[in-house]
Amino acid sequence: MTAFEIEPGRLFVGGQWREAADGARTEVVDPSRGAVVTTVAEAGAADVDAAVGAAREAFDAGSWSGLSGRERGRILHRVAELIRENADELARLESLDVGKPISLCHAVDITNAANDYEHFAALAHSLDGAVRDTPMNALAYTKREPIGVVAAITPFNFPLILAGSKIGPALAAGNTVVHKPADETPLSALYMARLFQQAGVPDGVVNVVTGAGPVAGEALLRHRGVDKVAFTGSTAVGRHVASTAGEALKPVTMELGGNAAHIVFEDADLEKAVGAIIKAFVFNTGQFCMGGPRLLVSRPVYATVLGILADTVPGVPVGDPRDPEAVVGPMAGEKHLKKVEEYVDIARKEGGRIVCGGERLDLDGGYYYRPTVIADLSNDSRVVQEEIFGPVLTVQPFDTEDEAVALANSTPYGLASGIQTNNLARAHRIADRLQAGIVWINDWAMLDPAVPFGGVKDSGFGREYGPEALAAYTKVKSVVVSLD
Ligand code: NAD
Repeated sequence: MTAFEIEPGRLFVGGQWREAADGARTEVVDPSRGAVVTTVAEAGAADVDAAVGAAREAFDAGSWSGLSGRERGRILHRVAELIRENADELARLESLDVGKPISLCHAVDITNAANDYEHFAALAHSLDGAVRDTPMNALAYTKREPIGVVAAITPFNFPLILAGSKIGPALAAGNTVVHKPADETPLSALYMARLFQQAGVPDGVVNVVTGAGPVAGEALLRHRGVDKVAFTGSTAVGRHVASTAGEALKPVTMELGGNAAHIVFEDADLEKAVGAIIKAFVFNTGQFCMGGPRLLVSRPVYATVLGILADTVPGVPVGDPRDPEAVVGPMAGEKHLKKVEEYVDIARKEGGRIVCGGERLDLDGGYYYRPTVIADLSNDSRVVQEEIFGPVLTVQPFDTEDEAVALANSTPYGLASGIQTNNLARAHRIADRLQAGIVWINDWAMLDPAVPFGGVKDSGFGREYGPEALAAYTKVKSVVVSLD
């Protein structure tokens, strides 16, 4: 049993807490013990219909879109403050739900979520249009208007941040939202519903429906009252979501899977590079869409880098998320742990050499897996090509820049990429050639709400963060006034 008391969750619709229409509930499991900690309501189609109805009513009433951008920004600033004021409770929930080390929750999840709302609060009053010069005897100008009801569908790995990266810009632009968090990690979304209300977000503007993807998610996706779908999740589900939304001609943003390459050149500062390499594949227990699970190393330093990893990686502290020393916690669920085990089995069968790790860690019945480094796999191995989404690093040598770029670009994904080099010209030359939405040079996971991120190829389309994200939650209207 956990030491924490968690209230059973209910759905948040039109500013009211309610059970699912059919009374269904689903269990929430603490991944560090494999124990049920609470239950939440499991929404069905009728509940989703009620949530979309509430969001529609709030949008049409103008209780949010009718406020000035400055007023919306003020309320979003308050949301950011409330996240900081409630940091301990939010970190506790996120850690319990996802298995993240509590220190990581504070440093990354809470900090970034607050920064996200603050960033979009500041952008809320910059939604201006343009006056266009034309040969007509007319005044032609554009306006940016909110789209309407946004369906925000989010994954299990960064519940708070990835909700903020959608709800923040959606609200800043004047939309209303129905949020469907991941089936297995719904707790921070429900807590945030309270904070939105406390900050002064009017009833019906943010609604939260917890439940299963194929039921609640599908009903939300198909609902005719939804005007835009903002999705983060796997490429397989994203493909289905994009095609369904496409059929209904709804705009979508798609933040999907990743399998980034991390390229180490012989001129890199290896000591610094190794820190970035380890961070890139163990951060969030490898459940990081922008993680760097494919290490490509220039042949002259290949053996050296493998040696350093063999010595260093086993010392990365894996343990109870409540332990402030833990850097790596459990996988977020049993199915995720099993997936990692399956991929490491494939690697063994395909002749991969396990440099370190390669097994579970038995601790309190939790879903722990030791950080694992694998060498000697061919580039067409499934372990190299597919998204494992666990603390597993494959290491491959290369001989030339061209080969490094070809290997880096050789998977269907294109979310992130990284380069370790002290050669400035090479860094920019390679960054230009990498098929990825973001390229990091001489570090990893440098993220800020001012810097847009998103994918190319099977990693999706559209950008979160930055003014680019805000634009994706608006539609442009042109007004042309005759001056005759
Ligand atoms: P997932 O695709 O299984 O689920 C994502 C969300 O979609 C969940 O809320 C789920 O309930 C919902 N869903 C499932 N079926 C649905 C359906 N038929 N209709 C509507 N919604 C449905 O993803 P996951 O396992 O929760 O998350 C891991 C994946 O997310 C990885 O592939 C990871 O790379 C990706 N991810 C991408 C980013 C990014 O920014 N690109 C960020 C985080 C995670």
